[in-house]
Amino acid sequence: MTSDPMRSSGALIAAGLLSSDERPQIDAVAARYAVRITHDVASLIERDDARDPVARQYVPRGEELRDAPDELADPIGDQRWSPVQGVVHRYPDRALLMPIHACAVYCRFCFRRETVGPGKTALNRAQLAAALNYIRDHREIWEVILTGGDPLLLSPRRLRALIHALADIDHVAVIRIHSRVPMAATRRVTAELIEALACDKALWLAIHANHANEFGPAQRAAILRLARAGIPLVGQTVLLSGVNDNAAALENLFRVMVANRIKPYYLHHPDLARGTAHFRLDIAQGLALCEQLRGRVSGLCQPTYVLDIPGGFGKVPLTPGHATRAEGDGGWRIRDFTGNTHAYPPGCD
Ligand SMILES: *Cc1c(COP(=O)(O)O)cnc(C)c1O
Ligand code: SF4
Repeated sequence: MTSDPMRSSGALIAAGLLSSDERPQIDAVAARYAVRITHDVASLIERDDARDPVARQYVPRGEELRDAPDELADPIGDQRWSPVQGVVHRYPDRALLMPIHACAVYCRFCFRRETVGPGKTALNRAQLAAALNYIRDHREIWEVILTGGDPLLLSPRRLRALIHALADIDHVAVIRIHSRVPMAATRRVTAELIEALACDKALWLAIHANHANEFGPAQRAAILRLARAGIPLVGQTVLLSGVNDNAAALENLFRVMVANRIKPYYLHHPDLARGTAHFRLDIAQGLALCEQLRGRVSGLCQPTYVLDIPGGFGKVPLTPGHATRAEGDGGWRIRDFTGNTHAYPPGCD
């Protein structure tokens, strides 16, 4: 196997990750949503296991061609809160900045699958300057969250310039980066990249991982390099049918995170991204899993289970007090951070 990332059905077939009779369907999926699997993650996949939890996250499937009625192109309402291109400012004290639209790998359940990928537009120099000006002009922004796309795919030179521009803004106290790179492109985590993250402000790194099998030797070593540099690490997980939808899988994942110095931060209920119905489960299942975890693992291993309310109403912790069954139609009523309630899925009032 070469170390080039796999981007096509042909490469996936050659690597033994897909059978050749699936080719026409997978070509149709790849025409619609980006595909990229790195050697780092491919090497963790058990080829003989049809239910391999790493493969399920990255290897495209024909089911992605089916859009369910509840699904949305912009599932968490980013557009609604975007004052300038590349910025999403939904909560007063924190804003997202998306400097890049590419990822090291493309997750089949991605909530931004309509806006990430090689065919999508990245911010040009003028747009990035405008985004930074917006943050400078809004003194209420205490934290800037770099996401995308994967910010750690920027060259160390561009990353350093961006981090310094943000750290130089007086009212920005915290910079947070959300990334899959330490799991999916471990060789990018070089001394030069880590040095580019050094600044006077607190810089937190949120690492996205969904199964204990993702923590191979190369991933553990990359995480250790980041931890040794003094970067606080938190974990971000999506609850996914067929990947981690049982208490043992979640327990193992959160234990391996904490043992690798990553504090589990959020367990996301899967978003209503198009073509992802085969990954979704019921909120009742997620609540039951969280209750089981409470008894099974250390408090350090307990993330907050959250739903990003469709339409852009923000994240809300899913606890029995916040999610209640709607009468009659089998849907849910969700209370958001302002105390308003929303139907979930949308439209089932
Ligand atoms: C998720 C998200 C954040 C960060 O939320 P936290 O609860 O602080 O992790 C900020 N802005 C937007 C638009 C988000 O979607
Ligand atoms: S790394 Fe994040 S943004 Fe990129 S494809 Fe995966 S879920 Fe989407």
